Amino acid sequence: MATILVTGGAGYIGSHTVVELVKAGYEPIIFDNFSNSKPAVLARLHKITGKNIPFYSGDIRVREQLEKVFDENKIDAVIHFAGLKAVGESVKKPLEYYDNNVNGSRTLLMVMRDKGCKNFIFSSSATVYGEPDSVPLTENSPVKRANCPYGQTKIDVEYMAEELQKACPDFSVTLLRYFNPVGAHESGLIGEDPRGIPNNLMPYLTQVAVGRLPYLNIFGNDYPTPDGTCIRDYIHVVDLALGHVAALNKLMNVPGVHIYNLGTGIGYSVLDMVNAFSKAIGHELPHKFAPRRAGDVVQCYADPKKAFEDLGWKALKTLEDMTADSYNWQKNNPQGYED
Ligand code: NAD
Ligand code: UDP
Repeated sequence: MATILVTGGAGYIGSHTVVELVKAGYEPIIFDNFSNSKPAVLARLHKITGKNIPFYSGDIRVREQLEKVFDENKIDAVIHFAGLKAVGESVKKPLEYYDNNVNGSRTLLMVMRDKGCKNFIFSSSATVYGEPDSVPLTENSPVKRANCPYGQTKIDVEYMAEELQKACPDFSVTLLRYFNPVGAHESGLIGEDPRGIPNNLMPYLTQVAVGRLPYLNIFGNDYPTPDGTCIRDYIHVVDLALGHVAALNKLMNVPGVHIYNLGTGIGYSVLDMVNAFSKAIGHELPHKFAPRRAGDVVQCYADPKKAFEDLGWKALKTLEDMTADSYNWQKNNPQGYED
């Protein structure tokens, strides 16, 4: 079976994808510098899969560290998760974000080209669509200049990979634009473990639920939506992981640039999420209304039809699965991975 290099494989989405790759018969190799994850995840992956997943400690910006992996293994494809992802931090540290995300991806693509590995799957984001002119978003919706350095790094890497594919037409470049990943593996052994106070809604909700934080601030209740709060397309991380497996199954060694939205197609408001979460924990989750957060788009959800038609993939898990699994992970690991 094919060997897949998973950069950022110790992180939230990467670790769940490693589990699904093993289940599908692929042989993943993790490459990570633990800048936003912990070594404890490796033992958890062993517990879930029963396998010792090969692991390389390294930084995608360091060519020699990547070359070592390619020299010691025949890598059939790369799934590239490694990157920094905090929108607010990217505004304060733009150069660090361009260095890590853009320079790191460039180094990875150079090593792939030079070592003859032609299959590249990239973690892009719905953020490339900016404030949508209309929803649902299809893959043909316009990509707009990003409103933060993080978003711009996603656009830049998409373009860089597309240009490489033009220059090297036998490359298979797959750009997966994720909507809002939430949830956790049903075992409760792996999940999202942000450092410090979470920026994203779901980890904030789970930390309020276990008493690590007192209440949720809902950023804005005067948006032009039915209940005044913003709308997003939340997708269970296991469904998202399976989207990568579907992309590998269909697109490995298929030259071209392949772009897919990975979302459910359903938009939920922040209040919908609070209500679903309150149901999962059996009491109302403490929350307050707060001013709008700068840069938030009003509503964003996918048209996921293309992924279904081409890859045979669609998200299957419900909002109840997402909230129950997120809560289960946080309850079992109130302080996240403790190393
Ligand atoms: P994460 O931070 O949990 O995982 C990223 C992993 O990459 C971490 O383990 C980190 O240690 C590693 N890493 C970072 N820089 C590295 C480097 N220079 N060299 C080696 N390893 C490095 O994040 P995630 O939520 O799993 O996201 C994975 C990818 O998906 C990221 O590229 C992110 O931008 C993208 N994405 C995430 C979301 C989301 O909401 N979580 C949405 C859209 C896109
Ligand atoms: N949100 C919120 N309180 C929080 C975190 C997020 O009200 O503490 C809202 C945010 O304003 C947005 C939605 O939840 O409308 C999803 O935010 P998240 O940061 O998770 O995803 P993104 O905005 O990047 O899609």
